[in-house]
Amino acid sequence: MKIANRMNTLTSGANDGWDVFYRARKMKRSGLPVTELTIGEHDIGTHKSILTEMDRSAKAGNTGYASVPGTDELRQTVAQRIKKKTGVPTTAANILITPGGQAALFAAHLSVLDPGDVALYFDPYYATYPGTLRSVGAVDRPINCYPENNFQPLKSDIELAAKGAKCLLVNSPNNPTGVVYDIETWKGIAEVCIEQDLWLISDEVYDGQIWKGKHITPRSLSDMAQRTLVIGSMSKSHAMTRSRVGWVCGPEMVITHLINLATHTTYGVPGYIQNAANFALNRGDELEMEVAAPFARRRKLATKLVAGQNMVKAIPCSGAMYMMLDIRKTGLSGETFANRLLDKKYIAVMPGESFGQSAKGHIRVAMTVGDREFKTAIEELLDFASKQ
Ligand code: PMP
Repeated sequence: MKIANRMNTLTSGANDGWDVFYRARKMKRSGLPVTELTIGEHDIGTHKSILTEMDRSAKAGNTGYASVPGTDELRQTVAQRIKKKTGVPTTAANILITPGGQAALFAAHLSVLDPGDVALYFDPYYATYPGTLRSVGAVDRPINCYPENNFQPLKSDIELAAKGAKCLLVNSPNNPTGVVYDIETWKGIAEVCIEQDLWLISDEVYDGQIWKGKHITPRSLSDMAQRTLVIGSMSKSHAMTRSRVGWVCGPEMVITHLINLATHTTYGVPGYIQNAANFALNRGDELEMEVAAPFARRRKLATKLVAGQNMVKAIPCSGAMYMMLDIRKTGLSGETFANRLLDKKYIAVMPGESFGQSAKGHIRVAMTVGDREFKTAIEELLDFASKQ
């Protein structure tokens, strides 16, 4: 029997860039004291009050099929959150609740791309992006961003790549770079989208984790709301990665089609998870800030330590839970650096190359272990770099 071609094109080959991560996990299982600064998973769990609500809701009987588009309450709460944060008029009709941001990314692309269409995205990219685009039959076309420009994309590069494309996928605050796009970047993106008639898919799962500057959603820019689909998630904002709950926010017409798609794919999100998400969002900014606070502290800590030496340079981290470090001065590739660091110091970081060609010679540090362990790991990492 032959498997569909698309299944073999999701990842590009034998090395999917996650070798260091898998090796670190194996070392840890064998009892070695590995510090994992790899994936974007909080070191705190979901807040107890959210779990209590989940438990209450499940025990109250919310365990049957839930409403496919999402419960009215949660759709309304998400719409209000978006309206409050961005000023863009938004109602429940603009929202589809999905099983996490990843499912939202897949659905959004499936709704605007036909097989063979060209889909644009920026390199460095979140690891699943190229596979998500290929999984819907699209041709993925990366646009390089450069460390010299702090990984902010340039309008001229987008223009060059946009001919014949159907959509552009963007992510700010950015994983893996920690960069938050400024208004000039957004204006350039919006202008090309309008000139070239592109759909814009804006992954905003880190919208509450801003350390410097402010979050701008492209949906708020002139003439952009009708061509923008925003991806949101409870995973990062509320440390609810395993609950699998997120959303797509977009024009009512697209959401109507996405509800139809959900009927034929996911069939919605469990009611007790949605009730817990609704409860969490209604607790307001205070809870979100509590979840984000450890990253703000560690970013400060790492920025200070990196500033105290000159072998490693930090890409200014303005948002999200990652820091991108330029290690080109060591003469090592990101991959070699990460592998040697793991073997010598038992510290696991992601090689920049895992996120595309533009981040080669860099490593991504996830700020996802306790402050003391994090500080020691950064000190050790810098010591290791100084000896290359
Ligand atoms: N987008 C980005 C940029 C991410 O970093 C992640 C998770 N690491 C996701 C989407 C997907 O998140 P989830 O499916 O857990 O909502």
